[in-house]
Amino acid sequence: MPSGERAAFKASRLSPTTFLIVEHSDIYEEHPFIYAKIVPDASTILLLDTGCGGATKDDEIEISSLREFIGTVKVDDNGGQPLNEGGKMRYVVVLSHCHYDHILGIEHFADDSPVYASAHAPEFLSPEVLPRHSLCEDLDIQTPKYTPTLLPHKSGIPTPGGSAALPDVKLLHTPGHIPDELALWDEAERMLYVGDTLYEWAHLPQRRVHRHLA
Ligand SMILES: [Zn+2]
Repeated sequence: MPSGERAAFKASRLSPTTFLIVEHSDIYEEHPFIYAKIVPDASTILLLDTGCGGATKDDEIEISSLREFIGTVKVDDNGGQPLNEGGKMRYVVVLSHCHYDHILGIEHFADDSPVYASAHAPEFLSPEVLPRHSLCEDLDIQTPKYTPTLLPHKSGIPTPGGSAALPDVKLLHTPGHIPDELALWDEAERMLYVGDTLYEWAHLPQRRVHRHLA
């Protein structure tokens, strides 16, 4: 399949290990960023966020699952290979925060992959309030089902087996956008992945939605 065509996502290389995946045609007009760091030594792909779940009005799009995209769609910046051909590597998912445009794709991973979030404000992520805090309630959409393991400030990210930490990456609590916001710091590559803490620009729908939280 030609790279990037007929998929709800596009991937480009950001660093020697990490790709930016953009969900470009979502019905919410959020066009969320998803980061995929390939860790071959641990046979793992570390994902930061999962996007909007692939819902699109574009009839041409055939691949709307983030997991299927990563496992099957050829990426020019990855030597013309899928990021995780055939799903051979396992996944670890970190959620930068619980807003819907970061968690709607999580159910494709939550059954067989660890999911991590910030331990800064556990009550903010409790199942009773997640529909409201994720903004799924405002949008009248189903809140995805997942049970994150909450990690402390400055912790490493456990491998899928849970026995060791993935190399080089630290999780930082960065509350502000909302209480569970976190960032990932890749020490070896000097890259900071910040979720919604900073925007290059903010388009209006996102601003409007986020104001509900004030
Ligand atoms: Zn947000």
